[in-house]
Amino acid sequence: MANVGPSSDFKIRLLQISLRLLQQGLLDNQIYLNASVADCTTNSGQQVGAYVNGGNPIINLCPVWFNRPDVQSWAIIHEATHVYLGTVDLSYVWQDSYSELNSFQPFLNADSYSALIDCLCPEY
Ligand SMILES: [Zn+2]
Repeated sequence: MANVGPSSDFKIRLLQISLRLLQQGLLDNQIYLNASVADCTTNSGQQVGAYVNGGNPIINLCPVWFNRPDVQSWAIIHEATHVYLGTVDLSYVWQDSYSELNSFQPFLNADSYSALIDCLCPEY
């Protein structure tokens, strides 16, 4: 078993609160989907599936998102954590650096919530 350290109770409580805030935001319909996004190219030329601007509760869905039903819910959860939890993109699960996040960084990292919910609810 991994060493979760003396603060594991705190981390469990933090996770509970975070997931409740995310659930509350999604259930209250306080998020809006914008499907009229034409350009989803980053400054580095990469196409993204969806994005939000700051804490603005609008998830912009890009053409890539519509062509990838296998990752649509992943992306919605990812973007919703930016809105409701103030997460950032420290690392994506497909990056080598993802496995190098320390024990608190996943609480701040948007992709970590999508990965957790994917593990807990593989059929979502
Ligand atoms: Zn993100």
